[in-house]
Amino acid sequence: MPAPEPFPKIELHVHLEGTVRPDTLREVAKRNDYALPGDLESLYRFRDFAHFIEVWILTTNALQTAEDFRQVVTDYAAEAATHGAVYLEAIFSPAERVVRGVDWDAIFSGYCDGAEEARELHGVEVRLTPDIYRGATAEQAEQVVRYSAKYREQGVVAVGLGGLEAEFPPEPYEPAFALAESLGLGSVPHAGEVAGPASVRGALEALGADRLRHGIRSVEDPGLVSELAGRGTVLDVCPLSNVRTGVVPSLEQHPLPQLVAAGVRCSISTDDPAMFDTDLARDYEAAASLGVSPQAAYEAGLAGALCDDETRARLRQVGDAFPWDR
Ligand SMILES: [Zn+2]
Repeated sequence: MPAPEPFPKIELHVHLEGTVRPDTLREVAKRNDYALPGDLESLYRFRDFAHFIEVWILTTNALQTAEDFRQVVTDYAAEAATHGAVYLEAIFSPAERVVRGVDWDAIFSGYCDGAEEARELHGVEVRLTPDIYRGATAEQAEQVVRYSAKYREQGVVAVGLGGLEAEFPPEPYEPAFALAESLGLGSVPHAGEVAGPASVRGALEALGADRLRHGIRSVEDPGLVSELAGRGTVLDVCPLSNVRTGVVPSLEQHPLPQLVAAGVRCSISTDDPAMFDTDLARDYEAAASLGVSPQAAYEAGLAGALCDDETRARLRQVGDAFPWDR
């Protein structure tokens, strides 16, 4: 008997730089004459956070041309499609590449071309949500926003904030997010991953967050949890990432069930699948073990997606037509 068709999935929180599997990295590195260590597979076996940073730097420095960025999107879309993905909101961090001498337009046009090709080749809708990294200057933050607006017609829908949450609170980035809003872009900052409720409040109030990446430490403040439920704010929860980075002590102790019980809508994502030794199927399994069904995750994803109405209607049809109780 053939394997059953996978459940359709919407993934709202995935860093493209963190999706690069060893085969893709080898191909890209070869094109760019970039030296890689011999044993990539063991390098990619996640050990701890310092090791994650090591792999991140190695991978991201290998990515240099528009062709590289395009390929990263299409290769991940192909992988995600095998797990049933129909819609992705994918993150990339352009300013880090610019600092290494890569041109803004090469980065944005490469990722945008990849998004278009992902639809044609793999039937996966991809929207892009570039990150401002915490610690970026006001000028870098503004440039991320301006280039995001320039590529709005090619799939960029929002701007995020990522990186060292405990060291850099959100408030200084308020002007960049106000500019983003004025240019028609959404706000999808990371918050409530390694810092607590104050960081989440800052993201909601100073950055006008449409959605929160992670957001799980909101559970430390019951008032905040009911506010999130009342607003209908979607959290992009990544169960296995949280275990790998030690944000939660174990999967069994993940706060996802508490958030869902309180009425907070939680979508499910992988964060950095290649680097955290996971994939969409495994994160959905983890979520299911915590009581979040694939259908509930799909509906939360649909509620949180920042796509146009036509795409949303199509995604709703996919969900309505699927035999979830098979
Ligand atoms: Zn993330």
